[in-house]
Amino acid sequence: MKNRRENFLISGIVLIVLGALFSLGVNIAMGGVMGISGILCFVIGMSVPSEMEMSPEAIANWQPSMERLPDAGRFMYRVDVTLDEPIKSTILCGPCGEITTHDGGKPPKFTCPSCGRLLWKDEEE
Ligand SMILES: [Zn+2]
Repeated sequence: MKNRRENFLISGIVLIVLGALFSLGVNIAMGGVMGISGILCFVIGMSVPSEMEMSPEAIANWQPSMERLPDAGRFMYRVDVTLDEPIKSTILCGPCGEITTHDGGKPPKFTCPSCGRLLWKDEEE
């Protein structure tokens, strides 16, 4: 069952990962702030009692919300990966707002089934 606590945990993971990426590539201070925020989210998530059970529909509506991401010169996307088995990735396509659920972790490459855009492709460079 999904609940608010998991939302916090997922937010925490996302922030920690973003923080790590920022530390490596952009700005150590900014990465540090995001990383700490992520850890705080994680701690809050762990301490919040599982009080709010959500229906499958509610989960689908929450994760992630239908939104169009800004166009930053390349296709934007967002990937959320669940923490519990079964592992599922939810992929939000920035250009068209389509949400796709993928079994397993983030795939090495992904093409949006709705608009056909290649959102990412991991290549060894
Ligand atoms: Zn799309």
